[in-house]
Amino acid sequence: MAKLLLTGGGRCNISNSFESVRSLEEVYPRGASLMKGALAEYSPEDVLEWFRKRGVSFTKEAGGRFFPSSQDAGEIVQTLMDALRGVSIECNRRISSLPEADAVVLCTGGGAGMEILRGLPLETVPAVPSLFTFNISDSAAGGKSGICELMGLSVNASLSIPGSRFRSEGELLITDWGFSGPATLRLSSYAARHLAELGYNTALNVRWTSSTEEEIRSLISSWRDSNPRKLVRSLHPEGIPGRLWEHLCLRGGIPAERCWAELGQKGINKLVQTLLCDTYFIHGKNRFREEFVTCGGVSLSSVNLKTLECKQREGLYFAGEILDVDAVTGGFNLQAAWSTAHIVAKSIINKYGTQNN
Ligand SMILES: Cc1cc2nc3c(=O)[nH]c(=O)nc-3n(C[C@H](O)[C@H](O)[C@H](O)COP(=O)(O)OP(=O)(O)OC[C@H]3O[C@@H](n4cnc5c(N)ncnc54)[C@H](O)[C@@H]3O)c2cc1C
Repeated sequence: MAKLLLTGGGRCNISNSFESVRSLEEVYPRGASLMKGALAEYSPEDVLEWFRKRGVSFTKEAGGRFFPSSQDAGEIVQTLMDALRGVSIECNRRISSLPEADAVVLCTGGGAGMEILRGLPLETVPAVPSLFTFNISDSAAGGKSGICELMGLSVNASLSIPGSRFRSEGELLITDWGFSGPATLRLSSYAARHLAELGYNTALNVRWTSSTEEEIRSLISSWRDSNPRKLVRSLHPEGIPGRLWEHLCLRGGIPAERCWAELGQKGINKLVQTLLCDTYFIHGKNRFREEFVTCGGVSLSSVNLKTLECKQREGLYFAGEILDVDAVTGGFNLQAAWSTAHIVAKSIINKYGTQNN
């Protein structure tokens, strides 16, 4: 419950409407197949309804993210605690082996609790962090990037890791240490294991525009023809803030005092290249303070996806982040915890008997 108080920066991004989600793989890089059934079984609306019945109201924010209208994670925790009245809870007790019981639910979160499973022949996937920001430099040798001087600036961009299939697009936030914002966090999630294997040291390509190369070349030609005396840095493509454009011109080797008429073919090519594929280097990661999760855990091949019961040990169930399921930011991780917990509760009731609620 203490962790829940910290979620969403203390506001608890409890779930998501999924209205802008094109495919579950996009938001659940691991566990989309499980989540398809889990969401059908216990949906975001079911979660909100459960809390609404107990007096909680919700507001929807950008990206379909749901928060309690009170903007207070404490309200969610209190509601859960009220619902648990009469249930015996033992706090501050670490378990290191499976207790003797007909049914045991292991929901110890990401990375934790694996020692409890020691000796069981089930498959686990090593845990690595997901949802982090990137420390960025201009060269493979390291050092802070000049782009960090643009800290606070936010722009739509596409990010990709050269030589891999990992890419993301969306808002990129420039910080005093490198890159943050939704596009960065998504890429950190999609490439969580790949980046861990690379020791968080790799090249990163940034595409600063969604225009095609042809469109950019034609825009640049038209500017050169109609504004020959104007400085290159004074006219910038739509969607690229002036400060960023000046930075990109310098990265493209175009001096600040150069005007459009003086921009030769080589200069144009460099500018186009910088807009379409500007290479930086990731040198380490930083914790994103609003949300982070673990990629890895109990392999889905070791659980019955309909009941979440362990295939190798009858009566042992898993729910939440201990499973090899994790999501990008936006309320999807908590939704996975609610949905999988519901499946487990229902499976246990079906197998061992009924309970209230
Ligand atoms: C700072 C932060 C903010 C976040 N914000 C959001 C958000 O706004 N929206 C969202 O969707 N997701 C968010 N997440 C992710 C989300 O909180 C997790 O995905 C979710 O809490 C997972 O739930 P869980 O019950 O599986 O695990 P947890 O919430 O991690 O709970 C596991 C529990 O098991 C206990 N435990 C572990 N090992 C043992 C042991 N050996 N013996 C006894 N007890 C043990 C732990 O102490 C803990 O209480 C955030 C995560 C963090 C860290």
